[in-house]
Amino acid sequence: MDDCIFCKIASGDIPADIVYQDEQVVGFRDLNPQAPTHVLVIPKKHIATLNDLLPEDEEIVGRMVGAAREIAMREGIADAGYRTVFNCNEQGGQTVFHIHLHLLGGRPMTWPPG
Ligand code: 5GP
Ligand code: ZN
Repeated sequence: MDDCIFCKIASGDIPADIVYQDEQVVGFRDLNPQAPTHVLVIPKKHIATLNDLLPEDEEIVGRMVGAAREIAMREGIADAGYRTVFNCNEQGGQTVFHIHLHLLGGRPMTWPPG
């Protein structure tokens, strides 16, 4: 997608602090971190929202979760614990319409989320 900021990060057209990359997904630090570790894991393929996932995309979502696990290990937050979040559409708080898995850690999380 031409005007998608996360497609541009995935292709390298816009710089980001990339912490993980494989053939299907990219992980980079959030510009406005909400925790000591705040990484966004995105698919290289443009998918606007979770509602737009196709059955054949489920492998990609599995890779996203696997990448979050790997990044949590590398960041040293795996044992203490962390949170992973997909926001979907307006009431879910989604502001960038290219799916992304938030990985948040390095501090205690509260529940329920706001
Ligand atoms: P959402 O609200 O859609 O779930 O999350 C979007 C996230 O993307 C926000 O946490 C926001 O700080 C982050 N973000 C938006 N634009 C950029 C950008 O250009 N670079 C990076 N690294 N993060 C961004
Ligand atoms: Zn995109």
